Amino acid sequence: MDLDELYQTVILDHSKSPRNKREMPEATHRAFGDNPSCGDEVEVYVKAPGETIEDVSFTGAGCSICIASASMLTQKVKGLSRDDARDFSKTFSDMILGEDLPAPKMLGDLRLLKTVRRFPQRVKCATLAWHALEQALDEENPTAQ
Ligand code: ZN
Repeated sequence: MDLDELYQTVILDHSKSPRNKREMPEATHRAFGDNPSCGDEVEVYVKAPGETIEDVSFTGAGCSICIASASMLTQKVKGLSRDDARDFSKTFSDMILGEDLPAPKMLGDLRLLKTVRRFPQRVKCATLAWHALEQALDEENPTAQ
């Protein structure tokens, strides 16, 4: 498989069968993000009563890049501390938005999304869920009772 085929396979798999796509009533943090130019809308749910992110999920609808990115997000940040999740998100955003350096290995499959750099209108699709995650983690008043 070349990189484009691998990209198609992984993105299609995640967009057709998104992981952790469900509401989370017990979430301690949540945030909504939308990308009107494409029609993407995602809500990210985080369960982190302490420092560790115990669970992550999302709901919403959008293009395959948006949904695949959100699906991979839930797999990557579960189990991380909130600070590590922020760092991870920044590493991902830097890969998409920053200088064109080799993608860090820690990003795993997410490195395939580097290809959206070639399509500026899709950059927001790839980063939408990550912005929502950061926003959720920054909440001053978590939704937990
Ligand atoms: Zn999109």
